[in-house]
Amino acid sequence: MSQLQLAGKTALVTGSTSGIGLGIAIALAKEGANIVMNGFGDVAGPKAEIEACKTKVVHHPADMCKASDIQDMMEFAKNQFGGVDILVNNAGIQHVAPVENFPVEKWDAIIAINLTSAFHTSRLAIPFMQQKKWGRIINVASVHGLVASAQKSAYVAAKHGIVGLTKVTALENATTGVTCNAICPGWVLTPLVQKQVDAKAAELKISNEEATKLLLGEKEPSMQFTTPEELGALAVFMCSKAADNVRGVAWNMDGGWTAQ
Ligand code: NAD
Repeated sequence: MSQLQLAGKTALVTGSTSGIGLGIAIALAKEGANIVMNGFGDVAGPKAEIEACKTKVVHHPADMCKASDIQDMMEFAKNQFGGVDILVNNAGIQHVAPVENFPVEKWDAIIAINLTSAFHTSRLAIPFMQQKKWGRIINVASVHGLVASAQKSAYVAAKHGIVGLTKVTALENATTGVTCNAICPGWVLTPLVQKQVDAKAAELKISNEEATKLLLGEKEPSMQFTTPEELGALAVFMCSKAADNVRGVAWNMDGGWTAQ
């Protein structure tokens, strides 16, 4: 018998061509799960990284703004592997501006990608999980699902929303083998955050290193980024037997950000 705890399971990770999603996909693949990748940009490189874990990997290019694309992706996963046992709702974007100047199309895109897409994937994944009497839904929220920062109205609204969706999904499935939990990272140095470091460096005419220190110093007492590998390990724990009764939590991994 395989020693790998997720052998025979299929994990779909939205936004797994980069950053946190890729880190979680690799961690789940290392435990033997088949992976359905999703996301834009370079696919071949990240796909090869996951394949190196000696598991089956496919990619679907669904745009998380579009319900019909999401439906296609879920059907594709079913055709490839029979269904989705582990759903990781991770795809996300950011835009920074005060409410009165916040571009309406950016608001709509952030709510669609960071929140509504998780509703669509979850509603389409849950019946299969309930039928199999086992399933894991992991929503990648953020510390911004728990507390706010200025200039991030759409992001904070979407992330608070996904923490709420997590709790409702967990409650509705509380007597089943299907759990739903959220992960709430602080700063993780991915392309999404690098853009914010670059913007700070340009705005204040300082070096990248100084801007990084400022960014961490404002919010994260540990002065350290959380890594995609650490978040992957947390996702693996949430898929483990030990986490059977972990339901509806918003689990921060944030260097003390929300302890203040
Ligand atoms: P990233 O930019 O490295 O990756 C984002 C991923 O989402 C990419 O694969 C991208 O192709 C995909 N994506 C973007 N728009 C999409 C769309 N319309 N359809 C399908 N895929 C799309 O960002 P990241 O930092 O790894 O962020 C991943 C998640 O983690 C996001 O939900 C983000 O809000 C959350 N998060 C990030 C941090 C951080 O500090 N980086 C902190 C807390 C939470």
